[in-house]
Amino acid sequence: MKINIMTLFPEMCEAVLSESIIGRARENGYIEINCINIRDYSADKHNRVDDSPYGGGMGMLMQTQPICDCYNAICEKSGKKSHLIYLSPCGETLTQKKVKELAEFDEITLLCGHYEGIDQRIIDTVVDEQISVGDYVLTGGELPALIVADSVARMIPGVLPNDEAKELESHYNGLLEYPQYTRPYDWNGQRVPDILLSGHHGNIEKWRREQSLLMTARLRPDMLKTAELTKKDIEFLSENGFENTFK
Ligand code: SAM
Repeated sequence: MKINIMTLFPEMCEAVLSESIIGRARENGYIEINCINIRDYSADKHNRVDDSPYGGGMGMLMQTQPICDCYNAICEKSGKKSHLIYLSPCGETLTQKKVKELAEFDEITLLCGHYEGIDQRIIDTVVDEQISVGDYVLTGGELPALIVADSVARMIPGVLPNDEAKELESHYNGLLEYPQYTRPYDWNGQRVPDILLSGHHGNIEKWRREQSLLMTARLRPDMLKTAELTKKDIEFLSENGFENTFK
């Protein structure tokens, strides 16, 4: 899969995406990520990319020309229209479901706004969809783009050292993950649950599923309304006083 990030701060994105799991996945060719400087496409003799908004008001807006030319160059290089996502507080809130959908594309392009945002005509004519990382406002689209790139990259086979691991993690199957422990066994009198040392895989699996249900019921009861629950899950939740959480 290829992810292009259109930004005024490519070094900021590169710094994050060159490290750790994503950095290694890029080096090993499991995913291609390109951080492209929109300013390189400015037709202005001073390389300007922004101007003040019509009608007055504070701040500056990113102009249509550099964004459009940058995006066209990306599509030309790929030989097709790349699915363009504008990171915006006005967009659909990112969820694991959306992340899985985005991972099905063979190429996506993430457009980072800055200052007061971008000229509406880019959103109306070139952008395919808008994605928000939450109901709050950041100074730029770089952090949201990094969140999208990281979460989508994890879905690509080969990116994670252990591909099945992602399926057990929070949100993948509509529940939160069960609690996990590592050495030491006893930390300040807090012991690891003995079942995890029993070596009985069936019992450990059952305990983990139950803990996952309890964790979700306590921390995110809203998720249980849409999670796929078995008859056993429902019985377990009811026995533990959470009969109203999944109805
Ligand atoms: N004037 C815009 C508004 O009120 O909707 C906010 C602009 S914000 C200061 C600058 C840029 O940061 C936006 O163009 C967008 O790319 C990015 N941004 C800020 N908050 C975001 C969020 N919650 N999700 C995604 N992108 C965000």
